[in-house]
Amino acid sequence: MSAPRDAALAELAARFPPGRLVTGDRDRLEAYGRDESDLGTYPPDAAVLVEAAEEVRTVFEVATRHRVPVVPVAARSGKSGGSLAVRGGIAVSLERMNRILEIDGEDLVARVEPGVVTGVLQAEVEKHGLFYPPDPNSLDLCTIGGNVAENAGGPRALKYGVTREYVLGLTVVLPTGEILRTGHRSIKGVAGYDLTALLVGSEGTLGIVTEVLVKLLPRPRHVATALVAFASVADAARAVSRVLAQGVIPRCLELMDDVSLRAIARTSPGRFPAGAGALLLVETDGNDEEQVFAEIVRVGELVGAEAEGEVLVAQGEAQRREIWEIRKYLSVNLKAVHPHKLSEDIAVPRSRIPEMVARAKAVGQRLALDVATYGHAGDGNLHCNVMYDRPDQRPRVDEAVAEILRAAVDLGGTITGEHGVGLAKRAFLEYEQGAEAIALQRRLKAAFDPLGLLNPGKIFPAD
Ligand SMILES: Cc1cc2nc3c(=O)[nH]c(=O)nc-3n(C[C@H](O)[C@H](O)[C@H](O)COP(=O)(O)OP(=O)(O)OC[C@H]3O[C@@H](n4cnc5c(N)ncnc54)[C@H](O)[C@@H]3O)c2cc1C
Repeated sequence: MSAPRDAALAELAARFPPGRLVTGDRDRLEAYGRDESDLGTYPPDAAVLVEAAEEVRTVFEVATRHRVPVVPVAARSGKSGGSLAVRGGIAVSLERMNRILEIDGEDLVARVEPGVVTGVLQAEVEKHGLFYPPDPNSLDLCTIGGNVAENAGGPRALKYGVTREYVLGLTVVLPTGEILRTGHRSIKGVAGYDLTALLVGSEGTLGIVTEVLVKLLPRPRHVATALVAFASVADAARAVSRVLAQGVIPRCLELMDDVSLRAIARTSPGRFPAGAGALLLVETDGNDEEQVFAEIVRVGELVGAEAEGEVLVAQGEAQRREIWEIRKYLSVNLKAVHPHKLSEDIAVPRSRIPEMVARAKAVGQRLALDVATYGHAGDGNLHCNVMYDRPDQRPRVDEAVAEILRAAVDLGGTITGEHGVGLAKRAFLEYEQGAEAIALQRRLKAAFDPLGLLNPGKIFPAD
């Protein structure tokens, strides 16, 4: 370790109790240096378990004095390497800032610390008859702070939108030491630049969020869930386009292709009609039970021509949960087919979903790799998982990923619909946005972080 880092660590040791500062413990530091991106381990030199905004400011003061990088770290479920300490430095872990500070049923807001697990917040607000819609499939694990940083989405984004739509205000500590409060408690508000919107999705590169004010909705009283099988993923993708073109917007429309089905069959065999090559998971919700049911029947009619077998509508909560488990654990269960995978999360306009699915398959065939495509097809956000067995296949995998990302942009979409650019996709940002937009974003970054100490090496292409 260099002399400035040693000096920074000594200063941290004088400012934080030993139980909240990790320095010599290699295993713990390595754990802070890994996430779900499959990009490797980049341990920080130290991790500080902060409990307040003022403590984050203290870390920035020390880091600035010694020119040491700082990286915000939450539950490390990220898939783009955003929390990896690629240049070492100090990890600021938000894990202890996990209190729900307020749930207000009159203003329809909740005020929370960033380390609150998303699923915990959802369960708490539901006890009050309220609803926090953003539902990343990692919700049992990931945190609101991580969701804000990545502007996370989930299956329900089709009807309810992503995290950005629910963040009314933030408390954020800037690398310069300022503690800013952005936004407002009112639903409307247009004063000044929308700093809240800029910070949401900034991937922990502009400031460290220490409090989040989110908007809530009344909880829909009824939900209907159905599973439909198709002979091929092309049929299922066309069915998605047809449902949406008819003006029916279910709350979720999740697609799973033939490779995904193979993984599902290994973990829960015998569920689907013979010949099924793809699945659609459909969910509708609302306050009128009959209408919710009528809507799911309508979806069934619209996709019926191509469906294989009956539309399976869940009878009761237990069956709903069972259907969702298929989708929720798919990412993990794919490892039963191939031990390694790179999981991309491109998004394309809805009309281009069938073409994107076909292109991903073609890339896999040309490079002799299994590509599993599944995801939030209703909003065009597809997870293309390029799978492989051995490290020596990695160059081919990288080639496949590059082709898939470029195809998404060529079809009018984006390289990332929800996981963020992070470390994983920074080489492709220019292909999507062009050099000028990147230069402007670098200038914005410099206004927040003049010394470039916060989460360096992320989002923008290597200099
Ligand atoms: C099985 C699985 C399913 C998933 N499904 C989805 C899905 O459906 N939708 C989706 O959007 N994502 C999904 N993800 C990805 C991941 O869960 C999300 O990106 C999530 O928002 C990350 O939250 P985290 O708390 O784990 O953050 P981390 O991974 O720890 O960090 C993510 C980024 O946020 C920054 N950060 C964290 N906290 C703060 C803070 N307080 N202030 C500033 N920056 C901060 C970090 O520096 C990093 O850049 C999935 C992941 C897995 C493993």
